[in-house]
Amino acid sequence: MQALLRNVFSVLFPSDCRLCDTPLNNISRIPVCPECIAAIAPVREPQCVVCGDRLFSAQLLMGDGRCQNCRDHEPEFARAVSFGEYEGGLRGLVHLLKYQSVLPVAALLGGMLASTIAELLPGCGDALVIVPVPLHKSKRSERGFNQAELIARAAVKRLPQPIELATGVLVRQRATISQVGLSREERIANVSDAFRVRDRRRVQGRTVIVVDDVMTTGTTLSECARVLKQAGAERVWAATVARAFQAATRQAANHGDEEEIEAVAVAASV
Ligand SMILES: [Zn+2]
Ligand SMILES: [Zn+2]
Repeated sequence: MQALLRNVFSVLFPSDCRLCDTPLNNISRIPVCPECIAAIAPVREPQCVVCGDRLFSAQLLMGDGRCQNCRDHEPEFARAVSFGEYEGGLRGLVHLLKYQSVLPVAALLGGMLASTIAELLPGCGDALVIVPVPLHKSKRSERGFNQAELIARAAVKRLPQPIELATGVLVRQRATISQVGLSREERIANVSDAFRVRDRRRVQGRTVIVVDDVMTTGTTLSECARVLKQAGAERVWAATVARAFQAATRQAANHGDEEEIEAVAVAASV
């Protein structure tokens, strides 16, 4: 009865798009208008062949396709890919899922992640397994769900071939603080020993795709990759729905754009 009343209510008073406030015409489980969703586009700028950060013309002309960060400190993952930049509508969707618990958004984000993972598949061989970045159990019970796991679960349903999803294999044994504003050394210290592999047999000799909602500096994903390789994974790729380009973050910091820095801080705090 209550559910019925809710439905009648939403017909009489359709809600507004949670991203642009335009009234929604159709009842949908995802409270976002089609225009906002259609405006979310994959990354088109030239990217680092390893970590996926944005490359600028000078780096493109002189380099080997890697960004300066990857040339200075090679990440533990072989390659990281993302669907789109962590801004605008995509950032809005991630926030709806993560901070407002609009769980059906995970299906939409999972679809985007699946298209990104599908690009990796030709080079991946058969022994594939997808591992979501775990939350610490205190964080998970506070939020009630792990957004990376929900997105990964939605993504495997949409992949062109069946791939195993292994949850609970990688665990976060230590809570970590936000990576934003920390130096490289501090970031590494912050995530060191944060993860461990609970069941080595699930990853031994296999190619692991570590999945998360957002990649910021890549330190967390690199640490996951290190632990997984130590446990016997043949190689590790990383795939995220969104990528906070590091060049953009630095620019925001330089211009004192507090809202942007705050958004990046929130993204990195899990
Ligand atoms: Zn909208
Ligand atoms: Zn790079």
